[in-house]
Amino acid sequence: MKDQYRVVVIGGGIVGCSVLYHLTLRGVTDVVLLEREELTAGSTWHAAGGFHAMNSDTRIAALQKYTIGLYPQVEEESGQSAGLHMSGGMELAGTPERWQWLKSELAWLRMMDTDAYLLTPEEAVEMVPIIDPRGLYGALFDPLEGNLDPNGATQAYAGAAKRRGAEVIQHDRVLSLTPLVGGHWRVETEQGDITAEHVVNAAGLWARRVGNMVGVDHPLVPIPHHFLVTEDVPQVAAIGGDMAAVTDLEGFTYLQKEGNGVLLGVYEQNPRHWSVEGAPWDFGRTLFPEELDRIMPELSIGFARFPVLQDTGIKRWVNGAFTFTPDGNPLVGPVAGVRNYWAACGVMAGFSQCAGIGLAIANWIVDGDPGYDVFGMDVARFGPYASNDRYLRDTTKQFYARRFVMAYPNEELPAGRPLKTTPCYDAFMAEGAQFTANWGLEVPLYFAPTPDFEETSTLGRSNAEPIVAEEVEAVRSAAGAYEIAQYARYEVTGPGADAWLDHLLASRIPAVGQIRLAPMLNEAGRLMGDLSVTRLDEDRFWLTGSYYLQAWQQRWFRAQLPATGVELRNITEDRMGFSVSGPASRVILERLAHDDVSNEAFPFLGVRRMDVGTTQAVVGRISLTGELGYEIIVPTALHRPLLRELRAAGAQSGLRLIGDRAIDSLRLEKGYGIWSAEFRQDYTPGMSGLDRFIAFDKEFIGA
Ligand SMILES: Cc1cc2nc3c(=O)[nH]c(=O)nc-3n(C[C@H](O)[C@H](O)[C@H](O)COP(=O)(O)OP(=O)(O)OC[C@H]3O[C@@H](n4cnc5c(N)ncnc54)[C@H](O)[C@@H]3O)c2cc1C
Repeated sequence: MKDQYRVVVIGGGIVGCSVLYHLTLRGVTDVVLLEREELTAGSTWHAAGGFHAMNSDTRIAALQKYTIGLYPQVEEESGQSAGLHMSGGMELAGTPERWQWLKSELAWLRMMDTDAYLLTPEEAVEMVPIIDPRGLYGALFDPLEGNLDPNGATQAYAGAAKRRGAEVIQHDRVLSLTPLVGGHWRVETEQGDITAEHVVNAAGLWARRVGNMVGVDHPLVPIPHHFLVTEDVPQVAAIGGDMAAVTDLEGFTYLQKEGNGVLLGVYEQNPRHWSVEGAPWDFGRTLFPEELDRIMPELSIGFARFPVLQDTGIKRWVNGAFTFTPDGNPLVGPVAGVRNYWAACGVMAGFSQCAGIGLAIANWIVDGDPGYDVFGMDVARFGPYASNDRYLRDTTKQFYARRFVMAYPNEELPAGRPLKTTPCYDAFMAEGAQFTANWGLEVPLYFAPTPDFEETSTLGRSNAEPIVAEEVEAVRSAAGAYEIAQYARYEVTGPGADAWLDHLLASRIPAVGQIRLAPMLNEAGRLMGDLSVTRLDEDRFWLTGSYYLQAWQQRWFRAQLPATGVELRNITEDRMGFSVSGPASRVILERLAHDDVSNEAFPFLGVRRMDVGTTQAVVGRISLTGELGYEIIVPTALHRPLLRELRAAGAQSGLRLIGDRAIDSLRLEKGYGIWSAEFRQDYTPGMSGLDRFIAFDKEFIGA
């Protein structure tokens, strides 16, 4: 071991070894992996080793496809078998809605160029003769599925990385991480200190503890999980070669061939957490005793779907822990404010995702960009709220228990809610608001006419649609008031603010008293956001973006910020307000404002400080609905009084409270796409139609 490396990877599970290998692929060979015990000593050694390309996020699905396709290359380079079985696998549909869902999933998979196809129940039984087809509607089969030997795959990655120049040190725990002047890290280990430019946290079950070493609290927790391996099953043994894997979505179980028997895993409805703060440092290659009472309800469903198992002996039980995040996706990438520290943790499906994560981290370290749209697994998709222990327990428990449960597009899940609320929350509740959660903040979806209204989860039209239609109609014919607490707002001040924004944003910078829509690009010319920039004074600006992108946006801003001359402050929680839009919006504002708000005095895209009712507000003439409209922004303490005064002033003009769903309908009808919904990180301005806002005659990032 040297005392200096460019990159130190902490953790020798499947993820750390893949990161190591991908760094060497990108030419970073001055790199070492440090492992506390031996390779695979965390979750990896006892995993079932199943992998699949399917994922509800198509970008993650593409990276899973990449992961599966890479194993043969890693085997060949290392000379080590990963024990690959490309058996293919099927998802069973036990309800008509699930069947409909699988058909739509097939359409997504086809878009990604896979050879997936549908099976009748009889065809499913032909492939896997131990399935009882009663109650089945069909199955979705994907050839890009299978299983491997977890130890072989990990050793293959490590071996291939070593052949390309990387080092692997075992029995060397990282004890502490200290930032050094100049941006490097001092990595204190059991075998001595190392200086490194970058550290990667791939510490699996211990990742929360390693994050704590640099002052970061990652939202991940270990949850124990069971599978059993049976004695030989004659029908399985008779197949000879591989047998397709089966996920019984309505049955909470998955099954794959193991020798001449099967492996049956179960996602129970009543999971428990273990070592929420991270596994103990001395936790070895240990399994927990079986907890049959807890998993029995789901296991019985599994035994009914595969009845032969009722008479088959169980050879082995595995009850081991792996980590979960609130949405089940990994935590990958740099953390704002912690220089050269990289997360590669919270990985639930390591054998499907290890290469995608390794590729993203290696690209990011080398190029400053992951090279793909990896927002679905970006560590910056969560804020500090997500690391609260209770929130984390509630949301991860919900995710685990719903792992195979049908998720409807209009469904709202209860865990960890309500968390953040605005001063208008109780008033909205009293008006029948139904909420969604945006980065932990309760945001009205629509306002139901009766307090006991319940929306039915559906793949079709929702029973809430007539309510949303009325809200849309109110905006088209009178006026709607929409709470804009879920906009992120940053104040940029200082003598260098104008020049910095001019470089950061691809649009022209507005004059004082003006607002502009401002695409923000990365060096490759891909969209980093579609913000609006408001110039309040010569050297005072507001940047407005999406609430849930705060950590993501600030990471980017801070990476571009000069050492002096520009101050950036996140004022999202300090300022809130309402967007009032529709033909009556000007009349309503006139009743409250002390200024002239006529079209001549206050034209489109203007911004003014003015008194509105009893509040001192900043009012912008802009609206996402496509109608005449104003955004009225006030200090948070005045947000509730503003609502009261707006309601009073708007009553005679048909002002109605509206929610997110109406806004989405209105903006889509108008053709206003937004970043991270219709446009993504890998779109160019030309692909999204945002090129009309670009000042092509100036210098800016991505020009
Ligand atoms: C019962 C069970 C079945 C599973 N089945 C599947 C499956 O079929 N398919 C699938 O994709 N996934 C499965 N998983 C999940 C899979 O095991 C994980 O996704 C994967 O192993 C995570 O790998 P990792 O490298 O992130 O973490 P880990 O394997 O936990 O590796 C982290 C490593 O970091 C080391 N380390 C920690 N702290 C330090 C430190 N301070 N210094 C040095 N080293 C340190 C640890 O010793 C450990 O070796 C299963 C998990 C369980 C429990």
